[in-house]
Amino acid sequence: MKVVRSLPVLLLAWSAAFAAVATSRVNATLHYTGPAAVLSASDIALHAYNVVNYDLHMDWYDALSGKAHGFSGKMEVSFVPSLSNPLDSIHLDCNPAYLHVDSVFSGVARLGTSLSGEKLTIFLSAPLIGIDTGTVVIYYHETDPGIAPAPDSLQRGFYLYYAGENTVGPNSTEVPATVAYTMSEPSDARDWMPCYDKPSDKALCEISVRVPDGYTAASNGLLVGDVNNGDGSVTFSWKESYPVATYLMCATAAHYALIQKNANIGGRQIPVQYYVYPQDSLQAVDGSGCNIDSVISMIKFYSSIYGPYPFEKYGMTGVEPFQYGGMEHQTITTLNRSDEFNRRDVAHELAHQWWGDMVTLGTWKDIWLNEGFATYSEAMQLQHDSQRDFENEMDFYASQFFVEDSTQLRYAIYAPPPGYIFGLAEYYKAAWVLNMLRNIVGDSTYFSVMRRYRADYQYRNAVTADFVNVADTVTHSDMSWFFDEWIFDAGYPVYTKSFEQDGDSLALTIRQTQSNAPVFRMPMEVGVWSGGRMTLETVLDSLQSQTFSIYFPARVDSVILDPNNEILARYPGQSLTSVGQVNVAPATYALLQNYPNPFNDRTEVVYRLPESGMVSLELYDILGQRIETLVNSFQTSGTHTVALSGAALASGVYLCRLVAPGGRLTTKLVLEK
Ligand SMILES: [Zn+2]
Repeated sequence: MKVVRSLPVLLLAWSAAFAAVATSRVNATLHYTGPAAVLSASDIALHAYNVVNYDLHMDWYDALSGKAHGFSGKMEVSFVPSLSNPLDSIHLDCNPAYLHVDSVFSGVARLGTSLSGEKLTIFLSAPLIGIDTGTVVIYYHETDPGIAPAPDSLQRGFYLYYAGENTVGPNSTEVPATVAYTMSEPSDARDWMPCYDKPSDKALCEISVRVPDGYTAASNGLLVGDVNNGDGSVTFSWKESYPVATYLMCATAAHYALIQKNANIGGRQIPVQYYVYPQDSLQAVDGSGCNIDSVISMIKFYSSIYGPYPFEKYGMTGVEPFQYGGMEHQTITTLNRSDEFNRRDVAHELAHQWWGDMVTLGTWKDIWLNEGFATYSEAMQLQHDSQRDFENEMDFYASQFFVEDSTQLRYAIYAPPPGYIFGLAEYYKAAWVLNMLRNIVGDSTYFSVMRRYRADYQYRNAVTADFVNVADTVTHSDMSWFFDEWIFDAGYPVYTKSFEQDGDSLALTIRQTQSNAPVFRMPMEVGVWSGGRMTLETVLDSLQSQTFSIYFPARVDSVILDPNNEILARYPGQSLTSVGQVNVAPATYALLQNYPNPFNDRTEVVYRLPESGMVSLELYDILGQRIETLVNSFQTSGTHTVALSGAALASGVYLCRLVAPGGRLTTKLVLEK
């Protein structure tokens, strides 16, 4: 999932012409031949049965045509006992605030049920033993909230918006097109379908949705049918042939244009699909930024470093409004329409198909195995084109993590506290952990770790200890010191240094001054400057204060710690430019989403300038009235951060506009008091 938007999309090409839209149809074929639901040995979420298949039929006709705001559903769950004792009942997650169960059957037998909290217990007519497969059919309906669009606070799991209506909430906007979709991560699948809602019980799924003529319903896997019912409705049926976690199941329906091309991945043709509003279709075909061909390039790149794309197709649906940047539903990512042509967001969600969808976290404590991996993959897409863009991106991740760490809570990546499951440490610090691992073990070993991790856990679940074990195995060493300090403990190192030279001996003392964090053990590059040249040395720093003797016969002018920025750390007082290094300017200029957003008393706006010049940064209200000038001066190229106080401002939406040599950029800020 992408919670934080990285870059605003500046231009959505609009055209009524969408002749290039392809409507070719794909036929379902089975690729995955292994068991449907495999739990890894380290999976701790065992329960009395494993789900084998979900067969879900939803009727969204009335909802999309404005006759009702809920929907009716029929869910067929197939399962096998996972324990040796007879299974006489099963528990499913089913949130009664949103779902009403009408009846439950097994064959023709109506089954007894009871509901306690969000647990629906179904009493089987006869106990199941061993390898027997049981099947129950649940008829249910999604409660009609009575209004649409309902306020965001009343919508969960299933979202419905009508064209021309204004959304209710702090970011009220006019809905451009009628759309219905599901969104579940982490635990909202139970709000739109009865299921065993834990990521560790992956199953196959089939989802069909009845919609009015003219609508397209997209879902997981391949399209196996689109039947015209002859009554003004069409039923789209989709089948996912690889195990999928419930939070990755989804359905989305709107008046979509489909742009489709095949990606040739190792001789296999993978359909790649953009479902977009018709006015966005030219952008999807050949727009700048990101289009269908860029997505195919990204799939090829990830396939080259992580092994072939793991599923039968890759589709993306654009929706508006959407509370997130994107969500990596298996084979059918949901993208916020404002981010659907944003390279970073598209790359992030695509990477999740490997890390999150193919290898799925075992528990929500392991969220970094999803988000850190996807975020680092996002940076690697940039690196594929430009090392400088990659370095800028990693700098940005570090700066954003430092802001969270210093203004909010310091917490360990593993098992984040409540409210921080999608915290920035899980994205940005975790991406840095992978970058540091890669720097320590080297590229070839790092990618061996990733491929081995895939081989051992593909189509299954993994927990953090599984990844650590793979790293140990591939590196033939005990890497627990590294994961202990970076994943299981909080914070980051803050280094200071001093040095003395005695003849040809340089005594370099490195101190770690961080509090509320461990003393870090890290190999560190040290740049020794002498006569305008820098010589690199490597030390293994592991103590709060440690002195290294380095043979250095020439006169030392200065010493720089970690000159290539390989450690997620701070170096107070250290300036790279002061010793003659050229400060590397970013290649492109950018105005990043402020953080935090929405904000209350304070937020920070970050922007990058590829060249020096006169810069103005101004705050406007939503009516276009200038509220405040934040910057109006000559600035050098590089990354700049400006703090903004909300103390004197009223709640609402504000626009922040950057005017710099080369163009203008605008981002939207939300102040909530
Ligand atoms: Zn994500």
